Amino acid sequence: MIRHHPSDTTLMAHAAGHLPALHARVLAVHLAACPHCRDELRMMEEIGGALLATMPPAPLRADALERSLARLDDAMPIAAPRAAATTLESLATGRWWWLGPGIRLMPLVRRDASDTRLDLIRVAPGMALPGHGHNGPEIACILQGGYADETGHYNTFDIAEGDPSLQHTPVALPGPECICLIATTGRLRAHTWLARLVQPLVGV
Ligand SMILES: [Zn+2]
Repeated sequence: MIRHHPSDTTLMAHAAGHLPALHARVLAVHLAACPHCRDELRMMEEIGGALLATMPPAPLRADALERSLARLDDAMPIAAPRAAATTLESLATGRWWWLGPGIRLMPLVRRDASDTRLDLIRVAPGMALPGHGHNGPEIACILQGGYADETGHYNTFDIAEGDPSLQHTPVALPGPECICLIATTGRLRAHTWLARLVQPLVGV
């Protein structure tokens, strides 16, 4: 059962088209599995559309098309997987890299124009990710298994959102390996020797 949903702020940003493209890719995995959030999103989009309809028409700037295309370029994914991919099979198109005992990482998008990267991370049951903090917003959706950290227990298709105030040490729950899709904006702040060691290697 899904217990952790995206915040209203995140859903509203998505409805307005303001969520960073790679964060939206993570959210898509949750939305595919969560009718509740799909309904919320539809409602927000309808309200947004109704508000737009009441606004007086404004003349387009001469460079409107050029600017829109430039924004599209920024938002375009740099590499595989396909934007619509929401299953582990369709997302895991790269190679798993050894990151530490029981921990593997598959980089999907190295870093886009908004300084966001997209990764799959795979952690064996009972293993902990090195403790770390964040310099920017992060959104994760669990594709398999689950983990616990200082903020709670997260299971398959749950969303976990982090910001610069989050310091955590996620530990994979017993059962199948925990596999998460994570979009991270900005660099992580590593707290341990292992994290500091692997950070330059994988560029997280
Ligand atoms: Zn939901």
